[in-house]
Amino acid sequence: MDLWSSRCNDILDAHVHMGGPDNESNLLTVAETTGIRRMGLVAIQDPASGEGLPGALYMKARHPGQFFVFAGLNHAARLTEGRVPTPSLAEQVATFAAIGCDGLKMIEGKPTSRQRMDVPVTDAYFADYWAAVEELGLPVIWHVNDPEEFWDPQRIPGWARERDWGYGPHDVQKEELYAEVEEVLARHPGLKVIFAHFYFLSADLPRAERLFAAHPNVHFDLAPGIEMLYNISQDPDAGREFFIRHADRIVFGTDLWSSISLPEARARAGIVFRWLETEDEFRVPPEADFLLGPPEDGIIRGMALPDDVLSLIYGGNLRRLVGDEKRLDVPAAVAECQRIAAIAEAMSGRPAPETEAGMVAARLMSR
Ligand SMILES: [Zn+2]
Repeated sequence: MDLWSSRCNDILDAHVHMGGPDNESNLLTVAETTGIRRMGLVAIQDPASGEGLPGALYMKARHPGQFFVFAGLNHAARLTEGRVPTPSLAEQVATFAAIGCDGLKMIEGKPTSRQRMDVPVTDAYFADYWAAVEELGLPVIWHVNDPEEFWDPQRIPGWARERDWGYGPHDVQKEELYAEVEEVLARHPGLKVIFAHFYFLSADLPRAERLFAAHPNVHFDLAPGIEMLYNISQDPDAGREFFIRHADRIVFGTDLWSSISLPEARARAGIVFRWLETEDEFRVPPEADFLLGPPEDGIIRGMALPDDVLSLIYGGNLRRLVGDEKRLDVPAAVAECQRIAAIAEAMSGRPAPETEAGMVAARLMSR
């Protein structure tokens, strides 16, 4: 089995993580070695270090047309109880749109994010933000929830436990998170949402079906969550039917990251290609990264999807959601990086020019 997609040579991956600008050449090699020509960089901000968004802006500035930026929010003001001021969330979105970002990334909805900042997405804090996103029509790649076994100490996989992704009765519960999201979707029916990791509904396709029926602007990405492949492989015919029926709602993703090794990158992308394209029965290869778990964990059964379905999943849907190509306004991106660097300095004491945001700003200015 060739690790490349044998059926598409212009793949757009919605879900890739970029680190600092020093990862540039590795990520370009990953793109080449996996055959994934274009990537959406999901840029979660860490306000105290200034990391997350600047690296993604850097890649879009340097390689227009190849990288798309889905910008995450900066919650410094909220996290410091107002000590470090930041623009409102709605103002941040307006800036992202003006700079030329392609969409938004949200992690607000993963239980770990809730442990850090216990503000539900239905809170007044987010109200103007949701209205602005709906109005601008920017797609949101949104991580909500986690696999249900993460709440069960008997069933949580070792790789998840090691990352402290195990939750208990004192954490937010899975149905609570879904209910909050349903409320946001009901208030903002125009929101274009791509729920990451199949919205963790891969074990319950009828429920996913109902969600799609109720919300015409809701989509799922395919970034593993390896449990998604195992769950759907329980009944590959049902999976295939679901994918064909909802071909316009499913978006390819890998969760590759910019410092991943090349064998791991090939294994990660190859698993998803093989699952979508072939009728093979296979396991995760031994060289796969830690987050995919060991080969013993389960069997994946390929769905052999038709070409027209693959072409939507491999890029057509995301292109439709993103719309016309957005050019990055580099001076405006530099200003945004400087603002992020100043916030990081205020939060951490590290001089702004030494933060990742500060370094990206300097590099982009000297181009
Ligand atoms: Zn991710």
